[in-house]
Amino acid sequence: MDERLAELRRRLGEVSDLRSALSLLDWDQMVMMPPAGAAVRAHRVATLERVSHERFVDPRIGELLDELRDLEGSLPYDSDDACLIRVTSRDWEKASRVPADLAAEQARAASEGMEAWVVARETNDYAAFRPWLDRHLDLKRQYIACFDAVNDPYDVLLDDYEPGMKTSEVEAVFDRLREELVPLIRETGGAIADSLGKGPFSEDAQEALGVTVMTAFGYDPASFRLDSTVHPFCSSFGTSDIRVTTRYRDDDLESLFSCMHEIGHGLYERGVSPALERTPLASGCSSALHESQSRLWENVVGRSLPFCRWLHPYLVAAFPNTLGNLTLERLHRAINKVEPSYIRVDADEVTYGMHIILRFELERELIAGTLSTADLPEAWNARFEEYLGIPVPDDRRGVLQDVHWSGGSFGYFPTYQLGNVMSVQIWEAARASLPDIEDRFEEGDFSELGDWLRENLYALGRKYTPRETLERVAGAPLDPEPYLRYLREKYATPVGA
Ligand code: ZN
Repeated sequence: MDERLAELRRRLGEVSDLRSALSLLDWDQMVMMPPAGAAVRAHRVATLERVSHERFVDPRIGELLDELRDLEGSLPYDSDDACLIRVTSRDWEKASRVPADLAAEQARAASEGMEAWVVARETNDYAAFRPWLDRHLDLKRQYIACFDAVNDPYDVLLDDYEPGMKTSEVEAVFDRLREELVPLIRETGGAIADSLGKGPFSEDAQEALGVTVMTAFGYDPASFRLDSTVHPFCSSFGTSDIRVTTRYRDDDLESLFSCMHEIGHGLYERGVSPALERTPLASGCSSALHESQSRLWENVVGRSLPFCRWLHPYLVAAFPNTLGNLTLERLHRAINKVEPSYIRVDADEVTYGMHIILRFELERELIAGTLSTADLPEAWNARFEEYLGIPVPDDRRGVLQDVHWSGGSFGYFPTYQLGNVMSVQIWEAARASLPDIEDRFEEGDFSELGDWLRENLYALGRKYTPRETLERVAGAPLDPEPYLRYLREKYATPVGA
């Protein structure tokens, strides 16, 4: 191997080790740490953050990347080494533009802002949270100023989650969705009243069922772990060490859907080619592509009729007292109920998109300075009612509901809905090459789909840009039409009718 390439790989391997240790600390904080550990933990995290950032933006890495540009040109475009040099150059260039002081200030504002938000949400006190929002917006403008935003300052923020994506592209997709979703919500909302009842559903039975379903999707105790947390999430500390979490409530079965969602993220990380381990390429490609996989397993597969046919006997056996009389039809209708509601994370497939479009519009206006944080709740409430047809009762169930803005994450929200759009594009591509794939679902066999996704998407990791990756796996650029067709086919005639 070229000596400079070997040195680059060695240095990037160390950065990868440090970052992985950092995410292990985060996982531990949310899953295992006793509460009194928080104060000293903040120091451990800050030190590791600083050291891993310094190691990565080290000028020597920049020199090596410069020197290796010729080698990259002589290698096949698809080779792991060429991709490593290409992608790392882009990451390095971006990271080097941000002064360490600004990065540290943003990290501090994020942790303090989150603490303030927890209290503000609990007490429904937007005024108390507003100064933090102003501080984040000020820091975001400083951050944007580090880059040359040619068309739209929001492009800089979006690029952190969806490299290469432009605000104008998101806007075009969302305009098209809005046009179709608003009338579809009016048509279908509340039309299906079935539910799975209020339980009680024992935690043990929920966990066993979650593991049964995840195992059918590809969960394996040798490489995965399941725990319970306040907010479900997935982390990866290597392609063979994946942690998923869920949460249990005894009056509903949301734990099952959060298991299917998080294992979708987990399967993506698990499927990354082991040859990319300990490099910046060893993870899912972008936030939207990642979300496309959680949504594909949770919604496209997990709320389909063939899946329900397989799940139904397991569900009845798990909860004989509460679901003993549940019919297959009622199960399928209940898990596909469409009903406008305030909380994004509880939203169904039809209404979810409008929650995101609302946030995207408001974020752009806040960043552009055309909306002030003083007017934000009013703007939120007016637009929410226009899009979803119900008035917002209070800020807790309105503008204060999500954690993202409290940590300064602007530009993240749109990737959730882009993930939904991509999930159907990718699903259609899989089904085109495996025509009888859904028949297998009825037998509890999801391996054909899992293998196809691993080969065509997961294994690629971050080798290509999100745009290139989507075109490789779906055979087409970002397109909202398959997703809209899917929603219309599924919901324009009531499910199960
Ligand atoms: Zn997700």
